[in-house]
Amino acid sequence: MTPVRAASGALTGTPLEPGVLAVSAVLVLLLAAAVAALIVQRVRRRRHDADARALAERLRRDAYHDALTGLLNREGFLHAAAGPLAEGGAVAVVDLVLLGAVNDTLGHARGEVFVRLAAERLGAAGAAVAVDGVAARLEGDTFAVVLPRVDGHDAHRAAETLRERLLAPYVVEGVRFEAPVVIGVAADGPWLADVPAGAERTAALLRRADVALAATRDGGAPVRCYEPSMGERAARRLRLIRGFSAAVARRDVRVDFQPVVSLGERTVIGVEALARWDHPELGLLLPDEFVPVLEATGQIGELTSFVLDEALAAARRWLDRGMRLSVAVNVAVANLGNAGFPDEVAQLLDAHRVPAELLTLELTESGVSSEREVALPVLRRLHALGCRLAVDDFGTGQSSLAHLRRLPVDQVKIDKSFVLGMGTEYGDVAVVRAIVEMGHTLGLQVVAEGVEQAAVRVALAEMGCDVAQGYLVSRPLPALGFDEWLDTLDVRQGEPGTAAGPRTLIA
Ligand code: C2E
Ligand code: CA
Ligand code: CA
Repeated sequence: MTPVRAASGALTGTPLEPGVLAVSAVLVLLLAAAVAALIVQRVRRRRHDADARALAERLRRDAYHDALTGLLNREGFLHAAAGPLAEGGAVAVVDLVLLGAVNDTLGHARGEVFVRLAAERLGAAGAAVAVDGVAARLEGDTFAVVLPRVDGHDAHRAAETLRERLLAPYVVEGVRFEAPVVIGVAADGPWLADVPAGAERTAALLRRADVALAATRDGGAPVRCYEPSMGERAARRLRLIRGFSAAVARRDVRVDFQPVVSLGERTVIGVEALARWDHPELGLLLPDEFVPVLEATGQIGELTSFVLDEALAAARRWLDRGMRLSVAVNVAVANLGNAGFPDEVAQLLDAHRVPAELLTLELTESGVSSEREVALPVLRRLHALGCRLAVDDFGTGQSSLAHLRRLPVDQVKIDKSFVLGMGTEYGDVAVVRAIVEMGHTLGLQVVAEGVEQAAVRVALAEMGCDVAQGYLVSRPLPALGFDEWLDTLDVRQGEPGTAAGPRTLIA
């Protein structure tokens, strides 16, 4: 029996000592606590994982979406567009032209409502033209849409449809307006053969659509499809932007002078200074190409300073040779927005010892009307210095002569398109006559530029126009050429009856 008892004692345990019991209870409790802790930890980790996933999801959404409109952003577009574009197609970049004006006139809150409304239309229109409806807001006023499975021609049509939907009137908090848009389109084509499909190809299409969009700003059609020549233009612009400062330093930029003559006495009374850029690779560049580029980048101030310096140096040289010739310099709108500009002019006049009344600053009509608020104090200070102010290209802009009366202006230059037309268009003769008469009523000197024919010069003189400038007298000439031209003219020395007055040149 003993062995059995012994066995049973071993199995059921003899009654345990109280100390052992306590230790076991603690162990069990510890185990339970450990298990509980493990469970809590698991649950926490799960919840944390879920939070992290949601956060990651949100971050991914934020990273790929535009907060204001809920459309994709640029990053999102690059990823999402690749799929639908895999079978070919096009990317359209849309510029909401009016947004700046809406922000300025109706305030930013309404501007945001406008953006959201446009985005809704774009999303819907995107879905209509593009099965997958991939639409994005790239920047403040710029959107992108995928047009899948279209070639160049269809892409243009699809973009036109898109434009019409965006054009329909908007009502923003009771204010109703139509909002024009411009669209640049780039269709997949042979020129992208080297670019791997996917985000990289989408980015390449976006860049080209941007180039096409920039081309809409050159005027003409509001929807433009990318052509390689547009890329060349953009590349050329970039070269001008990057090369300008160095070109000024190397003196590749220069100033030509075109004479202006009084119509009554036929004497040379001054010159207009016109910028030229002798580009070592692109050849001679004219201001109509590079001035708008410099205006767009804010580099125009550098050009104006350079031309002023050259023109005043020339005026000083002529004064030293006994010729009192006025110099006219073209001034950009940005110059008039710069409060330091009058000081710069004063300092240059001083440095070259040229009397202020020999300097005429030519402002475009649009310049004085659009930036009037900013420009007026600057104009007044320039005028107070004694400089003469002229309104250039008169007749092409919006402003009336009545508006000119409120500006401290001394001269109007009739736009050459009317003067060139005088030989053939009766209407142009009437316009020129009207400007001459009204200019005189306001006490302004009137200049006609673009005088190419002797008959036009006679007609202008008969109308009482004061001054002429044009190829008939001379084309713009480089400084040396201009001095040679001066030497060919008849000279009248001094005023009648005075020993040594200024030399008067007859052209
Ligand atoms: P603009 O001020 O109206 O200058 C007159 C332009 O008409 C010049 O062209 C001149 O060469 C041209 N022209 C003169 N006479 C005749 C003529 O009889 N017939 C024809 N068909 N054209 C004539 P250019 O030099 O190419 O200058 C173009 C424009 O570039 C200027 O127009 C002016 O607005 C701007 N520009 C020129 N130099 C400067 C500058 O230094 N700064 C700024 N901001 N703009 C400048
Ligand atoms: Ca001018
Ligand atoms: Ca002009």
